[in-house]
Amino acid sequence: MQDNCSFYIQPSDISADERLFYCSLGSGNCNITPDGKFQLCNMLVAPEMMFDLRQGSLRQAWEEFAPAIRNLPLEASAQDLTCRYCRLINLCMWCPATAYLETGDFNGVVDYYCRMATLRAKALQKATPDSNE
Ligand code: SF4
Repeated sequence: MQDNCSFYIQPSDISADERLFYCSLGSGNCNITPDGKFQLCNMLVAPEMMFDLRQGSLRQAWEEFAPAIRNLPLEASAQDLTCRYCRLINLCMWCPATAYLETGDFNGVVDYYCRMATLRAKALQKATPDSNE
C-alpha cells in the first residue's frame, strides 16, 4: 500500500507538457454526437473543440481536425496552472476537458475534485503499515 501511496501522491508529470491536452484523446477513437458533431473525447464538449460533420467529412475530422486539437499549445496567458502542478492529480478526475465541463475554463480548479482527492490521499495514507490502522 505504501508503494501505491507514492505512486498516486506525487508531483504531476504533466507540468512540463506544453500542450493543452496531454492525453491520447482522438488518436484511437472518437465520438459522434446525435446532432453530427465529431468529438475527440466524450468529455470534450467545448464548441470550438468539436467538428461539425455537416460542414466537412469524417476524413477531415480525423486526419486534420483531431491532430490540430491534440497539438493545441497551452496558452501562455493561462493564469492558473494549479492542477498541472498538483501532487494529488492522480487522485482526482481532473483533466482540461473535465475542468471545462465543471468551470468553463480548461485550466479551472474544481473544488469538489480537491475535496475528493484530499480524502482519497488521507485514506491511502491511513492504510499504510505505519499508520497502525
Ligand atoms: S482539482 Fe484539486 S486535487 Fe485535482 S488536480 Fe486540481 S488542485 Fe489537484
